[in-house]
Amino acid sequence: MIGSAMAQNAAGDPGPVIDVHMHAGEFASGGMPMCPNADRFLASDPADGPEAPFGWSKEDCTPRLYPAAKGQYMPEVLAEMKRLNVTGVFFGDPAEVKKWQAAAPERVIPGTAFKSVTTPDQADQLKRLEVSFTKDGFKVMGEIGLQYEGISPSDMRAEPYFALAEKLDIPVAIHMGTGGSGRSNVSRSTFRGSMGNPLLLEDLLARHPKLRVQVMHAGYPMAENMLTLLQANSHVYVDIAGLIWSYPRKEVNRYIQRLVEGGFGDRVMYGTDQLLWPGLMAYSIGIIQNADYLTPEQKRDILYNNAARFLRIKK
Ligand SMILES: [Zn+2]
Repeated sequence: MIGSAMAQNAAGDPGPVIDVHMHAGEFASGGMPMCPNADRFLASDPADGPEAPFGWSKEDCTPRLYPAAKGQYMPEVLAEMKRLNVTGVFFGDPAEVKKWQAAAPERVIPGTAFKSVTTPDQADQLKRLEVSFTKDGFKVMGEIGLQYEGISPSDMRAEPYFALAEKLDIPVAIHMGTGGSGRSNVSRSTFRGSMGNPLLLEDLLARHPKLRVQVMHAGYPMAENMLTLLQANSHVYVDIAGLIWSYPRKEVNRYIQRLVEGGFGDRVMYGTDQLLWPGLMAYSIGIIQNADYLTPEQKRDILYNNAARFLRIKK
C-alpha cells in the first residue's frame, strides 16, 4: 500500500499544494528512521525500567522515512517542496522562520506564536507578535500549544493573544487533539488529552466572532465534537497534519472521510507537521492522492483550494 502510494504520487501531477503546518528549524535530536502509519501503540509497564517515550510499534515498512543528514534538512525539504510544487506555512521563532523565508521566499508563508501563557512576560510577547504581524509580514499565529500545558484554548490567560489576532485580522492555528506518541504519561506530564476537545474552542469563538481558526490535527480522534464545532462555526477550518502519518492508515482515511462526508470538504486542509523526514511531504500527499473516497475536486480542495481561501491567497 505504502509503496504504491509513493509510485502513484510520483506518476501523477497533483498540481500546486499548500502545506499549512510546517515547522522552521532543524530538529537534530531524536532523528530516527520512521515507518509512517504504524498499526499499533504498545502498552508499557513502569516496573520494566525506563519506558520508551514513544509507543509506536516497530514494524518494517517500505518506504522507511529517514531523517536528513546534519545540515541537510533545510536544503532537502526545500528541494522536495520545489519538486512537488508546495508552498508551506512555517511556524516557529521569528528568526528561524526568516531563515527559511530567505532561502525560499516564494515557498514560505511565515507564522509565529506566543511561547507560553504561564510565563510572566506577556506584555513583551504581545509586543513582539504585534511587530511580527504588522511590520514583518507574518501571516498566521501558530502553533499554539496550550494543550501541551494542559490549558484550554478558552482559558482567559490566552485571551490577550487571541484578541490581538482578531484585531489584526490574523488567523490562529491551535494544536487540538493528537497526543502523537501514545506515551504522554511517560514523556509529557502536563499534556491533557481532554484539552484537545474541539468544543473547548466554543467560548473563545463566541468572544471573538471574527477570529479565523485552524484546528491543527483536526481534533483527532474526536470526530463528533469536531463536526459539532464545524457545524456551529463557519470560520473554523481543520488541518490533517501529524495525524496523516502517525496513526493507522485505515483510521486516518476514515477520519478524513468522516469530515468530508459530514459536509466539510471545503474546510479540510493538507499539512504534514514536517519535523524530521524530508520524504514525509511526498508520502503524505500520496495519502490524499490515493484516497478512493475523494473525488479529484475534493483532493484539490484539500491539497490547495481550502488553504488558499483560509489564508486569503490571491490566485
Ligand atoms: Zn501540533
